Amino acid sequence: MSLVRDLEALGQYQELLGDSQCHFLAKLWTLQDEMAPTDFRWEPLSKHEIYRLTRANTPLLSKAKDKIDLIAFVEAFNNILALYTEEIFSSELSAKLQALDSLGEHDLDQALFDDVKILERVFSKQAFLDDDAKSCLTLVVYSTLRVFRAAYASQIKEIDFGEYDFPDTHTCPVCGAEASLSIINRPIAFNGGLRNHYCSSCDTQWHYTRIKCAFCGESGQERLRYFYTPDDEAHRVHACKSCKGIMAAINLKFFTLKFSPRVEELVSLLKAREIFQDASIDKFLSDSSIK
Ligand SMILES: [Zn+2]
Ligand SMILES: [Zn+2]
Repeated sequence: MSLVRDLEALGQYQELLGDSQCHFLAKLWTLQDEMAPTDFRWEPLSKHEIYRLTRANTPLLSKAKDKIDLIAFVEAFNNILALYTEEIFSSELSAKLQALDSLGEHDLDQALFDDVKILERVFSKQAFLDDDAKSCLTLVVYSTLRVFRAAYASQIKEIDFGEYDFPDTHTCPVCGAEASLSIINRPIAFNGGLRNHYCSSCDTQWHYTRIKCAFCGESGQERLRYFYTPDDEAHRVHACKSCKGIMAAINLKFFTLKFSPRVEELVSLLKAREIFQDASIDKFLSDSSIK
């Protein structure tokens, strides 16, 4: 379902993102969707347990009894690497990235909820790689992890999310990755539009207080501001004077296209660049008259 939504939304940005990027992403997302495992078992957690875990910033996926299957992971990695090679990487580069053969079962123990560990494992086995090759390898590993994380997260959410009121966390309550986009929903009745955080690593959204910095928790209205260009009120940058943190955001009240957070995460990066050129974010961040 979300694949259809994502592809339709992607098509709207052909001009902005470019034909070749849209073509590649459509292929990648379709491939990831095809490989999504269906045999994950999730035993429901009590509300109390979810409360405890999320407040302690412990990703729910750390409670999964299943972990990623090594054979399935290596197969998914190879398929995704083949696509990157076909469309983006040189064959010389991708030859360097091949062999995940040396990866063992235990290397994937925490891969569902710990990016750092799995990357360390992969790099330690490919220590000869230069920095460029490492960034490319990181990209392929993340694209592979998403296959499993999104599939598992969707099951957890189906069983356990309900109307659960998550605490304000910058990291994803399901997989522990950092939020990459803030979504301000359309206002409903007397509600001014609730804000969600979005994690593209497992395709999860959770509530986050609207007037509050995502990084340091600052909630003083005068120290927080949304910036946008006059011709596009939907795509925004949220800036905090206290920690100088900035985060991409989208305000759905002003958004008229088909919405996919996965697509808007990419678009918001390009828009943020425009907003930086146009708006006076630097001035706001360095203005000492605002206390
Ligand atoms: Zn996540
Ligand atoms: Zn802040």
